[in-house]
Amino acid sequence: MTVATVASRALAGIDAPEVTVEVHLGPGLPAFHIVGLPDTEVREARDRVRAALNHAHFEFPARRITVNLAPAELPKDSSRFDLPIALGILAASGQVATEALAGQEFAGELSLTGELRTVRGALAMALSARSAGRAFVLPADNAPQAALAEGARILPARTLLEVVAHLAKETPLVEYADGSPRRAPAYADFSDVKGQQQVKRALEVAAAGGHSVLMVGPPGTGKSMLACRFPGILPSLAEGEALEVAAIHSVSTQGFEAARWGERPYRAPHHGASAAALVGGGNLPRPGEISLAHHGVLFLDELPEFDRDVLEALREPLESGRISISRAARQAQFPARFQLVAAMNPCPCGHCGDRSGRCRCTPERIARYRGRISGPLADRIDIKLEVPAPREAELVAPVAGEASSGIRARVEKARQTQLARQGKPNADLGTREIDRLCGADRDGDQLLRHALARLLLSARAYQRVLRVARTIADLAGASTIGAEHIAEAIQYRRLDASF
Ligand SMILES: [Zn+2]
Repeated sequence: MTVATVASRALAGIDAPEVTVEVHLGPGLPAFHIVGLPDTEVREARDRVRAALNHAHFEFPARRITVNLAPAELPKDSSRFDLPIALGILAASGQVATEALAGQEFAGELSLTGELRTVRGALAMALSARSAGRAFVLPADNAPQAALAEGARILPARTLLEVVAHLAKETPLVEYADGSPRRAPAYADFSDVKGQQQVKRALEVAAAGGHSVLMVGPPGTGKSMLACRFPGILPSLAEGEALEVAAIHSVSTQGFEAARWGERPYRAPHHGASAAALVGGGNLPRPGEISLAHHGVLFLDELPEFDRDVLEALREPLESGRISISRAARQAQFPARFQLVAAMNPCPCGHCGDRSGRCRCTPERIARYRGRISGPLADRIDIKLEVPAPREAELVAPVAGEASSGIRARVEKARQTQLARQGKPNADLGTREIDRLCGADRDGDQLLRHALARLLLSARAYQRVLRVARTIADLAGASTIGAEHIAEAIQYRRLDASF
């Protein structure tokens, strides 16, 4: 046998398309080519594969070795193919039986001594291998993550020798069984935050309907403390959502920790972050902050300090829940359905409206500062609220606030109502759906028309108020939107006039 093929997987976005690794041994001067990879990568792969084979006392054939990775156009993070290439060489040179390779896929980087090193995207690969009906042989350290794909047959190995012993049916690899029970995710709790009842109520409404929020208040009022507790009051992740979250994180630089299964992500990039860091990119495109926040919370503190380009880049995902990244010839799409929670000071110094009167910002400076949140972005934020400095009495009060679990129970119930009625959260309702599903009763409608005229709000704002009022009514278990629901929803638009 001088040709062998081994099944493996590349990584494209969060998908793991199949790659066939073909190894040919031909006559001629000893050489080692990998078709379609740059020379430096070929050299490194060759050095690792050759050293690993030698170290394990296999023969590295003194022939002309050609490795072909098909299809050719896929992005190739090449070190993951070390193991399949080594096995292909062993099979093509008759040191391993080719039939033994059937029904299995392989991925793993080799150390010079033949140990298997972890690869990126193990979960994505395991999901695809499962769909293809094959077992997946991979580095042992990747197994806990890969095993999150329920029903996938994961065969972890520590070394090349273990894999060869498995293929020779001497010592079969043992299928990975996850012994650790899944625990409920742990979030910081709302009961730690004293006072701020109105803000907490607004966040409950935001969580229930999936509405984006902007908190405006002076420094030190607990805006970030509230934001990082927000994931804990969101509805629990469904199995499919948890898998998506894990798959995205598994292809990121930091990777995914199996222990964080089921947790809603919370991402808080600094305002100095570049557009690329936020939306993703790179030669082998990787997810950015907005995709790492998929099904979770993206917290942007000091919103006006972010670059205009960065804020602009948020428009596509806020609309579609996805982001397309193209770089040179490569294109990748990542999901990015996050809930935006933003915060800012009321003015550049932060003390506008403060009882101490220490703010010296001119009205022009304040207007310019607020104007940095561009119309379209400000427009997509359903709830804007003021976060006042807490009163002394609130800070020293011994009573703890309500725990996140109680708030989450109400949020889950309201969200269920929405999913049963329209199959999506209220924040995603389009214009015509609002007309159909968010009609207010007579008193409510009258109140809304008066308020809009008084606050000089636009027709779009009218729709937004109704959408939030729908959520407030859902929280109250009311099928019709009444005046009290409209009244609360209008509170969340009062700041509109200053943006
Ligand atoms: Zn000021």
